[in-house]
Amino acid sequence: MSNRAIVGINWGDEGKGRMVDLLTESYDIVVRYQGGGNAGHTVVNEKGRFALHLLPSGVLREGVMNILADGVALDPENLCKEIEDVRSNGVSVTPDNLLISSWSSLLFPWHRDLDELEESRLGDSKFGSTKQGIAPFYADRSRKKTILTGELFYPEAFAAHLQQLMEYENLTLDREYGALTYSKEEVNDWVDRYCRPLIPFICDTGKYLRESQAKGKNILFEAQLGALRDLDRGIWPFTTSSNTTASYIPVGAGMPGAVLDDVTGVVKAYSTCVGEGPFVSEWSGAEAEQLREAGEEYGAKTGRARRVGSFDCVATRHGVMMQNATEIAVTKLDVLSYMERIPVCTAYLVDGERTEDFPFPSALDSAVPVTEYMEGWNCDISSVRTWEDLPDAAKRYVSFIEEAAGCPVTYISVGPERESIIIRKNRKEEWRRAH
Ligand code: GDP
Repeated sequence: MSNRAIVGINWGDEGKGRMVDLLTESYDIVVRYQGGGNAGHTVVNEKGRFALHLLPSGVLREGVMNILADGVALDPENLCKEIEDVRSNGVSVTPDNLLISSWSSLLFPWHRDLDELEESRLGDSKFGSTKQGIAPFYADRSRKKTILTGELFYPEAFAAHLQQLMEYENLTLDREYGALTYSKEEVNDWVDRYCRPLIPFICDTGKYLRESQAKGKNILFEAQLGALRDLDRGIWPFTTSSNTTASYIPVGAGMPGAVLDDVTGVVKAYSTCVGEGPFVSEWSGAEAEQLREAGEEYGAKTGRARRVGSFDCVATRHGVMMQNATEIAVTKLDVLSYMERIPVCTAYLVDGERTEDFPFPSALDSAVPVTEYMEGWNCDISSVRTWEDLPDAAKRYVSFIEEAAGCPVTYISVGPERESIIIRKNRKEEWRRAH
């Protein structure tokens, strides 16, 4: 038996979906334990190109059970649409390969409205939300103004609870924002349309997971976003509203005894960031445009152009530490092939002082990157499949990432396709011996 978490080390969009898709071969169960449909994993395999938002990436592998666990923002409307979408591409989604936790909470249409209304009210100070209702959802969940998904099994109590909630949310919509409110009919129609079809998928997934662990099943935990968006230790307040770190798994999965044999931290070979917030190693102008084009850096959920910049040693070390990563998967190394020399951010200057420690959020705005340059390899590496066949300059770049992060690089991805990967089987052992 072995359990593994695949988590983001940076701002998200590191290519976690691609790594989950690759590794699901060795796992029986894939679990999403936090976040909602606000981000997207892009997966390219023999069935096509998929942009998954809420569905775990294991849904694309036959024989894998996928779980939406307690900690996710269960958005029934988007989930139903996503299920339809992947089904139309020939992927089967039934209770035989997808289970939804009865202990998760439902994201309602008013959460999306409130997200949008608050972002417009904030104007220039907006958070850059994807407007999927995630922040209002998690705020409501903490103040117990949501409904547990499993309440759908108790129709009378569900109806009474829904009525109470709707009255409260209508007050907020009307009195705080002067916005349109919901009628009982509208909300009931929405429940019939999007919640009822999900009933066959709902069960106590925590129990299922605990029993599966006891039976020796292999479980893969899939995170959404990255360490820098973690609610507690990210770039506050430009974080997401849930914990993106592996340490949240036992809670978010409803599995207090979750054992993690490996935490695979996914790191992009350069930096990208969607939305607002400090991003110290950010580039602008033609240089940024060229990298964005080379990496096709446009958001899976919103199509928004991602902000791009150099690999950031300070942020990556912080991410590796926060995730307690045991190994690293470097993705998109192929994208850097066009560069003759590659800028990397090795430290920050904060008020003129050099630091290699990730600063407190308030100090990030004034942080300036210290940039050094690595030699590029300047040739196509997308068909390379072994460490030995990588050009020396590419090997040096990967080794530089390892040393900067303080963690061995065991996977190197050189293309979006499942097979475009270099696996360094003995790297963890070699690293342990050398450090
Ligand atoms: P996630 O949310 O962490 O799964 O990341 P996204 O799916 O938002 O973004 C990663 C993007 O990079 C997707 O479009 C992937 O298909 C693509 N991708 C992943 N790994 C590689 C790689 O090694 N090379 C290239 N060129 N593209 C990759």
